[in-house]
Amino acid sequence: MNNEYDVLIIGGGVIGAAVARELSHYKIRIALLEKEFDVSFGTSKSNSGIVHAGFHSMPGTLQAELCVEGNRAFDRLSEELEFPFERRGSLMAAFSEEEIQILHMYYERGRKNNVPYMEFLSQDKTLEMEPNLNPDVLGSLFAPSTGIVCPYEFCYALVEDALQNGLDLFTQEKVVGVRRGSARSVEVETEKGLRLSGWFVINAAGLYADEVAKAAGVGDFEITPRKGEEYLLDRRVSNLVRRVIYPVPTPTSKGLLVIPTVDGPVMVGPSAVDVESKTDLGTTSQGLKMIFEHAQKMVPSIRTSDIITSFAGLRPVATGDDFIIGPTKMKGFINAAGIQSPGLTSAPAIAETIRGILLKEGLKLEIKPDFIARRRGILHIRKAVEDRDFDKVEDAIHIDSGYAKLVCRCENVTEAEISEAVKRGHTSMDAIKFMTRAGTGRCQGGFCSSRVMKIIEKETGTPLEKISKKGPGSEILLLPFAKGKQD
Ligand SMILES: Cc1cc2nc3c(=O)[nH]c(=O)nc-3n(C[C@H](O)[C@H](O)[C@H](O)COP(=O)(O)OP(=O)(O)OC[C@H]3O[C@@H](n4cnc5c(N)ncnc54)[C@H](O)[C@@H]3O)c2cc1C
Repeated sequence: MNNEYDVLIIGGGVIGAAVARELSHYKIRIALLEKEFDVSFGTSKSNSGIVHAGFHSMPGTLQAELCVEGNRAFDRLSEELEFPFERRGSLMAAFSEEEIQILHMYYERGRKNNVPYMEFLSQDKTLEMEPNLNPDVLGSLFAPSTGIVCPYEFCYALVEDALQNGLDLFTQEKVVGVRRGSARSVEVETEKGLRLSGWFVINAAGLYADEVAKAAGVGDFEITPRKGEEYLLDRRVSNLVRRVIYPVPTPTSKGLLVIPTVDGPVMVGPSAVDVESKTDLGTTSQGLKMIFEHAQKMVPSIRTSDIITSFAGLRPVATGDDFIIGPTKMKGFINAAGIQSPGLTSAPAIAETIRGILLKEGLKLEIKPDFIARRRGILHIRKAVEDRDFDKVEDAIHIDSGYAKLVCRCENVTEAEISEAVKRGHTSMDAIKFMTRAGTGRCQGGFCSSRVMKIIEKETGTPLEKISKKGPGSEILLLPFAKGKQD
């Protein structure tokens, strides 16, 4: 194996994925190292899926600049890479005269950040656009450029396209050492002993970017995890809101939102609480109470009895509170760290910034004439039926009868969709869930999990007892039931 690369990327979240896709346009060798079983298993899997317009961020910060630039890229990217994205728009709702004044401040911020087409809406217009909002609303700030995206499929799509353009992906490889190699290169070593060298190393390790920087001897920042709990509601109440509903923000977060998702169900959250541990992903009764009190103030018909599941994500907040993007004292070692919200939105612009830095630092970038810009999306039969695109459904079934066999009854996911996800390299239950939605509905996998496992077994030859939720150590079947493990 040739272990020499032009660029090594540490971390397969949305930032590492966007950098990989951006650099795969050029005639260079790139590798992506991810410690987990699959990409998108860090913060990039547990967020609100909003492509923010950019009026929250303080003008002059990297967050402000890259959010607005990143937002603009989503129309082109979603067309090229066929991941679900919709420009639904957002309303920031005000419930007092004081809040109306604050809306003006955010309008001004947005204007300075170059957010397009924002406007103030009267009470009547606000309620006409979102009839389920509390009638006590006094008015709102409308930002039509806000979007919603499927965060995992976005990340998977970026990696899939980079792979078809030559990326080498190493999953389950945790980087533990970074040092100067021969000449101008940097050497990276993983826990399992894999050694790769690159002219450049991009540190996109999310919550652990401070530790990776320390391993390289350039750790001059800390990452604090800031937890956000989110609650997903039953598909039955999907029509509660059409647009993203923001409250007037708090000093540390955008506040508690009511969020439509591209898959249909509405989500409520996220909270923002600094926590000690980078693995503290539990949801709490206090979080639930606080989130619903706030959400019900904006949309009174939201009910806790409609919750079907909850999750938490950890924002990687760096010293200084802004993104940390740029070269370091170690030649060739470049940070893309502290990418808290709006990191998902900013990912395309962060990738372009990294490309610019690499060029400045001397990397020769020559366009690949045979670059493949298009990635075929996964066909979601539920979506085709909702769109009344019955020709698409019929054509699919004609080619593969598996598109007629329902596996997940809550979310209407078919056997062929799950097989397709497995064929694309997603072989854990979580990855299948993220890619296809099987197991995300009301019964939370009670009906389909064993069926999904059988499809993974059939497609990969992996014995059932080795099939896991998210990689080794999270196998679904208890060991005593596995052959030869009774004693
Ligand atoms: C609750 C919540 C809601 C949010 N909502 C939004 C939103 O609506 N819109 C928005 O724009 N942003 C949002 N964000 C922010 C967004 O999710 C993040 O900015 C983004 O996902 C960060 O991506 P990343 O690639 O830097 O980090 P991650 O996704 O965490 O990726 C880092 C990767 O590095 C890997 N890694 C770590 N250490 C090593 C190592 N030593 N070796 C190899 N691999 C390693 C990890 O396993 C991980 O996969 C939200 C965040 C949270 C928590």
